[in-house]
Amino acid sequence: MDLELSAADIAFRDEVRAFLAESLTAELRAAGAAATSVFMDRRYSLAWQAILHAKGWVAPSWPKQYGGAGWTDMQRYIFSSECARAGAPGLAPMGLRMVGPCIMRYGTDVQKALHLPRILSGEDYWCQGYSEPGAGSDLASLQLRADRDGDDYVLNGSKIWTTHAHWANRMFLLARTRFDGKPQAGITFLLLDMATRGLSIRPIITLAGEHEVNQVFFDDVRVPMANRLGEEDAGWTVAKYLLEFERGGGSAAGLQVSLRRLRAMAEAEASDDKGPLIDDMLFRRRLVAEEVTVAAIEMTEHRVMSALAAGANPGPASSMLKTQGTEAMQRIDELAVEVAAHYAAVDQPQARAAGSNIPAIGPDHSLVAMARYLNNRAGSIYGGSNEIQRDIMARLVLGL
Ligand SMILES: Cc1cc2nc3c(=O)[nH]c(=O)nc-3n(C[C@H](O)[C@H](O)[C@H](O)COP(=O)(O)OP(=O)(O)OC[C@H]3O[C@@H](n4cnc5c(N)ncnc54)[C@H](O)[C@@H]3O)c2cc1C
Repeated sequence: MDLELSAADIAFRDEVRAFLAESLTAELRAAGAAATSVFMDRRYSLAWQAILHAKGWVAPSWPKQYGGAGWTDMQRYIFSSECARAGAPGLAPMGLRMVGPCIMRYGTDVQKALHLPRILSGEDYWCQGYSEPGAGSDLASLQLRADRDGDDYVLNGSKIWTTHAHWANRMFLLARTRFDGKPQAGITFLLLDMATRGLSIRPIITLAGEHEVNQVFFDDVRVPMANRLGEEDAGWTVAKYLLEFERGGGSAAGLQVSLRRLRAMAEAEASDDKGPLIDDMLFRRRLVAEEVTVAAIEMTEHRVMSALAAGANPGPASSMLKTQGTEAMQRIDELAVEVAAHYAAVDQPQARAAGSNIPAIGPDHSLVAMARYLNNRAGSIYGGSNEIQRDIMARLVLGL
């Protein structure tokens, strides 16, 4: 399904395609194809980030004055769709898509000058310290305390599900600076150096056997007050601004890639002596249902793009796309596991190429089907769970 592109947009799309064809190395394409989660191993995401940075394309949504590409919404959509189609590795979103825009909006000149260039270059790798063992969907109930002592805040408590905390050298976090009044009113947004004394990280190994998330403990961790983003007790405003960026992002192009991969697997794989699964009418019906759903998601994305281009707000459509996109992904993963059948075991070390952590997968992708299935369960939880998104739609669309 093609967008109605202007001549300038078509020229831009062709320029992006030519750049991707030339710049994506075989290793980066292989890493993109073997990715088992939206969060890529940093050695590949940072290598790709360096190439994009050199081209000036690393931050499509940032204004030019801060080193962004300065593109229109349509150009950003074209770029992300083309990257997905070409199999480019994803970039870590925590710096570029989350804290970066917040620093631009709420940071002091000193904070902007220090952090923004290092986010673009990949010199700083950020993690997000929002969730706690007792605070996820109900984020405002967070309890990590920050007590003032001289020119510092002193932090005690813990954060959980912190993606890539073990790789990050910086964390942005929400801490409680007041315990009375409305919970939202006593939260402060802080920027932290991960090398600070008193901070420790415990891995959480996922069902897929991967180390992606962590619990982080704070034991009298001192953060200079100069590292506060925005005013004390006003962190909720910054946090909400950041969530706008966490939720966004197109998904149809990535879903199309997954569907094509699934169809190829189903055409190739023999299920016992019954022939390829694509010949099974019930399987084919489920596959086609997903193809129809993804086509509908793509149309909705295009409509949202047109609305944005005309200066409108996407409103509840972003909640709908998040819900539909992640749930379609999960159904596609289920079908892929069915096709992979006995080859869907989680750990197949013999399939990993020597000296590399990219599985030497063939065109059927069976070797990563189960890891994708398990990791993508998280898609309906993070970025605001799908139940919460449904609440938002019920309020905004149905007026409930
Ligand atoms: C792989 C992964 C990576 C993550 N990375 C990060 C990270 O880097 N940084 C970070 O800060 N957090 C991260 N998270 C945490 C994520 O944001 C939370 O898991 C999410 O907000 C849900 O919170 P919770 O886990 O406490 O579940 P809960 O909030 O306890 O929810 C449990 C269930 O109850 C439902 N529920 C809760 N409230 C309502 C309601 N009002 N109405 C209807 N249903 C409701 C939820 O939808 C869910 O199904 C990550 C999570 C995962 C799985």
